[in-house]
This record gives sequence, structure tokens and C-alpha cells, in this order.
Amino acid sequence: MPPKSVFITGCNRGIGLELVKQFLKQENGPTHIFATYRKISDELSEVAKSSPKVHLVEMEVTDYNKFPEVVRQVEAVVGSEGLNCLINNAGVLPKNRDLDSVTPEDMRQAFEVNCVAPLLFTRAMLPLLKKAADLQPGAERSVRRAAAIEMSTAVGSIAENSGGGLYAYRSSKTALNQAMKSLSVDLANTGVLVMSMHPGWVQTEMGAPNALITTETCCSEMLTLLKGLADKDHGAFLRYNNTSIPW
Ligand code: NDP
Repeated sequence: MPPKSVFITGCNRGIGLELVKQFLKQENGPTHIFATYRKISDELSEVAKSSPKVHLVEMEVTDYNKFPEVVRQVEAVVGSEGLNCLINNAGVLPKNRDLDSVTPEDMRQAFEVNCVAPLLFTRAMLPLLKKAADLQPGAERSVRRAAAIEMSTAVGSIAENSGGGLYAYRSSKTALNQAMKSLSVDLANTGVLVMSMHPGWVQTEMGAPNALITTETCCSEMLTLLKGLADKDHGAFLRYNNTSIPW
């Protein structure tokens, strides 16, 4: 079953925007969809105008001081039901990719946006996720109960790294996976599911126009995968089409 409420970072374009659109169309889909942006795009603005289910949240994911305010904003809407699903989707791929060009700033920016921010934002949202989980004591983990989904990438897999390069991006997502794994261990007794997701190679600004799949295919498959997540997927690293990725 889909979550009743979902919070997605980085919805201005790309995968985040398409997730919002497809959650809106989903049968028995969420009542509340929180969508973050930095400088709002016309497309996100149009989607938000089309439905009262969409709640826009202005958020730079590395603005840690703003997290309590964002949590209060969400709490004001979801109340005692808590938040069912957090998707840390915002991410960055620094343009200097090879050994000769990578800079300290590329490494720091990628690490901060792709690993530090999702970890600390998940921590900030935990009280709301736990509240939702506690409403279904004893139930199996699921996005309908409570889940934190970290948008990772297969290029963060050390085992699958045969191409080299991409220093900042690869390293930051490998670190994100490790942070997610620790979270899954620390949250073992909470009923909150945590996992890392690879969305595929997708036609977005980050993924390139000739990437393998469209945002529509990516998000439709991810929504199917999300609906089926259960206890067995806690701490897992999965592709959008529900195949496992080696660490
Ligand atoms: P895009 O570059 O198209 O979109 C990224 C989104 O993240 C934008 O909305 C952007 O906001 C937001 N964002 C970036 N940095 C920040 C920040 N500091 N604070 C707040 N928001 C921020 O990327 P995709 O949609 O392709 O990627 C989404 C996720 O999927 C990423 O985590 C990416 O690593 C992952 N992924 C993508 C793949 C692909 O092939 N596309 C493959 C594997 C993983 P703004 O519009 O304001 O710039």
C-alpha cells in the first residue's frame, strides 16, 4: 500500500518532480505530499496548484538550522498521524569527475549534499516517522507504516566500480549507503524501515538526455517497489526494478 504522507526533497525537476506527479496519480495514494525546492520552477508550481495534497517546502538541504522549522511545518499538517515516508532525493553530481580535475570543494560539496544532509535530515524527521510507526505496533515495516528512503546510486557500489573516476559523487554515495546501514541497525527496534535506492540511469539534468530510462519509467517502477517494501528490505540497497546491488 502507498504511504498516507510522504516528504520528498529536491522536487523542482528530475526524479523528485516526477515522484510528486506520480504519487498524485496513485490509487489510494498519499493525502499529503511534501515537496521541497530552493527556487521554485514553473513545473513544480503548476503541480502544486493542481492539488491541495501538495505542500511546498522551501529548503536548502544543507541548511541544518532550518530543519526544526521544517519538522514543525510537517507536524502542523500530519498531527498525531506522524509522517509515513521520507524520500531523501536531492543530490548533486559535481562536474569535475576525473582524477586530474576533482577539487576539495567538489569532494566537500558532494559529501555534504549527498551524505551529511540526508543523514541529519532523517534524524530530524525521526520523531515524526516513529510516531507513524507507533500507530501500527507489531506490523511489518512498510512505507505505509514508516520509512526513510535514501536516494543512492549503483555507482556508489564499490563492488561494481569498474569504470573509475567520478570521485566526489561515488565516494559521497558510498558514504550515504554506510550511513543508511548504521541507521538501519540503530533503528532495528523502531518499526521504521530504512533502505538505499538506485533509481536507474535516468533522463534528467544529472543523468543526461541519452540515459537509459525516462523519469516516468523510473518513478513508476520505484513506486511499485516502494509499495512492496517489507521487513526483508530493511537496510537493503536496491535498484528501482527490485534487484539487489552488492555493496
Ligand atoms: P537533478 O539534477 O535533475 O535534480 C536534483 C534535484 O536536487 C534538484 O531539484 C535540485 O534542486 C536538488 N538539489 C540539489 N542540491 C540541493 C541542495 N543543496 N538543497 C536542496 N536541493 C538540492 O537530479 P536527478 O533528479 O537525476 O537525481 C535525483 C537523485 O537521484 C539524486 O540523489 C541523484 O544522485 C540520484 N540518482 C540519479 C541518477 C540519474 O541517472 N539521474 C542515477 C542514480 C542516482 P534545484 O532545482 O534547486 O537545483
